[in-house]
Amino acid sequence: MSLPRVVVDGPLAPNILRLLEGQVEIHLWPALDAGLEHVQGLYTYGHPRVDAELIARLPELRVISNFGVGVDHIDLAAATRRGIPVGNTPDILNGATADMAMALLLAAGRRLVEGDRYARGPTFVHYDPGYMLGREIHHSTLGIVGLGRIGTEVARRAVGFDMTILYHNRHRRPEIEAVLPVRYASLAELLAEADYIVLTVPLTPETRGLIGRAEFAQMKPTATLINVARGPVVDTEALTEALLRRRIYAAAVDVTDPEPLPRDHPLLRLENFTVTPHLGSATEQTRQRMAELSVANLMAGLRGEPLPCRVA
Ligand code: NAP
Repeated sequence: MSLPRVVVDGPLAPNILRLLEGQVEIHLWPALDAGLEHVQGLYTYGHPRVDAELIARLPELRVISNFGVGVDHIDLAAATRRGIPVGNTPDILNGATADMAMALLLAAGRRLVEGDRYARGPTFVHYDPGYMLGREIHHSTLGIVGLGRIGTEVARRAVGFDMTILYHNRHRRPEIEAVLPVRYASLAELLAEADYIVLTVPLTPETRGLIGRAEFAQMKPTATLINVARGPVVDTEALTEALLRRRIYAAAVDVTDPEPLPRDHPLLRLENFTVTPHLGSATEQTRQRMAELSVANLMAGLRGEPLPCRVA
């Protein structure tokens, strides 16, 4: 019996390959055009875009499985119209991604990456109490834009740093307010009050460009922006301008627009800009759990069974 044909959007990590071995026939995107009509599964982690046109080219497609929680690269409506279930991997990566948000926040506030560079460099010859002063983290005000699964974990961590915590969502979350010291705020109020602004919203038409020139203008000059959501939630040009002109103190981001930034992008030359290459969920333990859940989603869809975790 032939194995179901699955297209994957790039080379797979060995742990994912082990889970798929002997169960499916794997084709790397861009797949052999000749075989596209027999593809039954699509396993994706962000590129290429799974749009209506691509879905239309796969008449036998039974399931789309995403390695990750963000599904902004998948046209969910087009999949739904065809009755194709889409799986993702929420919750199991909340802790790792929230840890990353805190790591970036701490790094930016205390100039960790810049300090590392200096400590390794030739100009560090003696300690000086006047250099590299950062901004306090404990007892400062944190603003979480997107208090969902990951945002709530960020809030839980911030409690340990004695931070005052504001949040902004489209809907207030009384059940979280009941267990965590978080206060609902309008976006304008949050931007004006927060020392650290953490973005944990999904990328949607509504959140694309959510933080642009007007929003930077509302922030304190001492504010730091942390983005662990998706690059296009922030207007890159406005961010560059805000950092270059010291309109805000710093930014630390795990995601950019475009991603990666062109190697000669001005942001990459700024000391008050810290960037990581989309490492939010990148721990051995979390990536293993994501591999297991995304493969379980894929295999369930191929068998015509309900997905363990279905987003659409
Ligand atoms: P979630 O549980 O759905 O939480 C998202 C939150 O954003 C919700 O509280 C939602 O509340 C709020 N929100 C949505 N649209 C909004 C808008 N227009 N204005 C204000 N708030 C809005 O999602 P999650 O699991 O925490 O994941 C969030 C995102 O993080 C993912 O979609 C993904 O893109 C990103 N992520 C990145 C990494 C990484 O490696 N850096 C890892 C994992 C996830 P309302 O509906 O009430 O507005």
